[in-house]
This record gives sequence, C-alpha cells and structure tokens, in this order.
Amino acid sequence: LKIPGYTLDLGKVINKINSKEIKNIIIQIPEGLKIHFSRIVEKLESETDSNIIISGDPCFGACDLIDNKFKKIEIELIIQIGHTPIPSLKKYSSKTEYINAESDIDVSDVIMKAMPIIDKEKIGLVTTAQHIHMLKKVETLLKENNFKPIIGRGDKRIFYPGQIIGCNFTSASSVKNKVDTFLFIGSGSFHPIGLLMATEKPVIACDPYTKEVRIRELNDFKDMILRQRYGAIARSTNAKKFGIIIGAKIGQQRLERALEIKKLLKDNNKKAYLISMEYINSSILESYLDIDCFISTACPRIAIDDYMQYKTPIITPVELEILLKEKKWEEYKFDEIFE
Ligand code: SF4
Repeated sequence: LKIPGYTLDLGKVINKINSKEIKNIIIQIPEGLKIHFSRIVEKLESETDSNIIISGDPCFGACDLIDNKFKKIEIELIIQIGHTPIPSLKKYSSKTEYINAESDIDVSDVIMKAMPIIDKEKIGLVTTAQHIHMLKKVETLLKENNFKPIIGRGDKRIFYPGQIIGCNFTSASSVKNKVDTFLFIGSGSFHPIGLLMATEKPVIACDPYTKEVRIRELNDFKDMILRQRYGAIARSTNAKKFGIIIGAKIGQQRLERALEIKKLLKDNNKKAYLISMEYINSSILESYLDIDCFISTACPRIAIDDYMQYKTPIITPVELEILLKEKKWEEYKFDEIFE
C-alpha cells in the first residue's frame, strides 16, 4: 500500500488474515501516520472479511505491545504499523505483526552532499526503521567513493543491523571502536544526539527530507541538553521524596532497575515510592504534590524530550546516581534500555 511518503507491505499480513480466516484485528499506528489511517483500514477491509479496529491510544514504539490487553473481545491479530519487532519481547508479541513504513525518499542526494565533509575513512552507518531499506545502497555508494562503511549489529532490542531506536544505540556502540565517525540517516535531533552521547564519537547527521548535513549544530544541541540535564540534577539536590516511575508498557518495564534505585535512595536516607504508569506526562505527574523529584525508568525519551514541561524535575537512573554522588558528572551516560 502506498500512503503519501511511505510504502507499507501489507501483502503478507493480508494472506495470513485470509488463510487463517481471522475475524477481529486491532491496528496500532504511530501518531505521525494516523493521518492516513483510513487508507490502511480501507485496504484491509477491501481485501479481507475482518473487523478492523484502530487503537486510538498513542503508540510511540514497538515497546507498546497490547497483545494481552483484550480479554472480553477476542482479538486474533494486532498489526503494528511503522515499527520493527523488538526480538527480546517475542514471547509477549505472539499476536502482533509489524509492518514497517518504508520512506519513499531517496537518500543518495544527501549522502553525496555529505561526502566532501567526511574526512575520515571508517564510517559507522546507522539509521531508523523508516530508512533501513536504504542502508545497503548507502553502503555501496560509500564504498564506490573509497570509504569503509561498517554496519554494526545491535543487541536483542534491535531488529535490523545498523538500526537505532530512541532507547537503544547498540548497533552503533558495538562497532564504535572500529569506526572514526558515525553517519546517521534520518530526520530530527533526538537520534543523532543520542548517538553522540552513547558512542562519544563524531556524528554526521544526513536528513533526506531537508537535505541538510549537520555536525556542529548537533554538538551545540548536545551541549544544550547536557546543560538542561545538569540543571535538572541541580534542582533535585535537596529532594527528600522521590517517585520512581516504572513504565507499564511491556517493553518499558525495568522493575529491577527501579528496585535498585529504591534501595540506593533508602541507603541515602531518602524516601522513595514506586509508581507504575502507562502514559507519562507533566499534567499526570502534577497530582503527586508530595514528590520532590521523579526518576523515570520508562522510555528514556520522557525525561529528556519534554524537559521544559515538568514542574517537578524528572531525571534518569544515571542522573540519580550522579545526584547521589555514586557517579561523577564526567561519567554521564545516555539512558538506554538494553535487550
Ligand atoms: S522505550 Fe521509547 S524509544 Fe524505546 S521503543 Fe519505546 S517509545 Fe521508542
């Protein structure tokens, strides 16, 4: 199926629905693609006899598996659009089929634009799910121009070689000692900044949409985020009561880490409470007036992306360790969820 800007390969899932005579289906669509929901539903309805239900809740990543949610309505299949599987969650996702949204945009132009700027030979190639099908082409292009591209394998949270997600950069860190610089293909700043912080290697970000090649701006942005993070830690120096957030979504649950943190806080004579929630945002947290500082063990993006919106500081587990002087500021690490 073609939707503006993307191709969704629905063929296999349609065959599965028809051969197994699947009746009830739920579709999870990320916010950015929800605008095209009717085309997806109409395509599935025209080619199958199934009842198609859109999940109206936000879906930010493959960590959000709803396989076990429906007890009363018998849902036989969940289709998650725009994400790739998280292999380590396979046992929780037996009903889910992932349909990646492959961007139609050709990335060659922006790679050609970046080449004169790359002054090193060994380049680590990384991208997000939507451009992953272009990675081989980029590898060939770079080889033809006398570079040595390297595509790393991530841990069990990552499906494709060279793929990164907002909470896991292991495709890059696994090869960081073999490369001089990383070349990121994709839009936005969160992924390349995460890459910079997780690998501590230079990053060249190539945006196929705007055709921009960014290096210095990324470093400035990283410095700004680090200043914000330092500020959030500083604001929590006198905190006495801490709320440790555990993500309720299956792929965000880090109970062990949360318990470790609780113990650490107790050892430092602080009060700590475990709070589980599915959707975490500033207005929900405002009800917890008693809490001086939140620590998020859920999606690492939560504390960082919406920093300005939180009245009570929200920090990551590593930032808490810095706050409690278990670690030095120089040991700052970007929060990642492994495996
Ligand atoms: S935890 Fe966050 S970054 Fe990781 S897959 Fe889920 S939504 Fe994406």
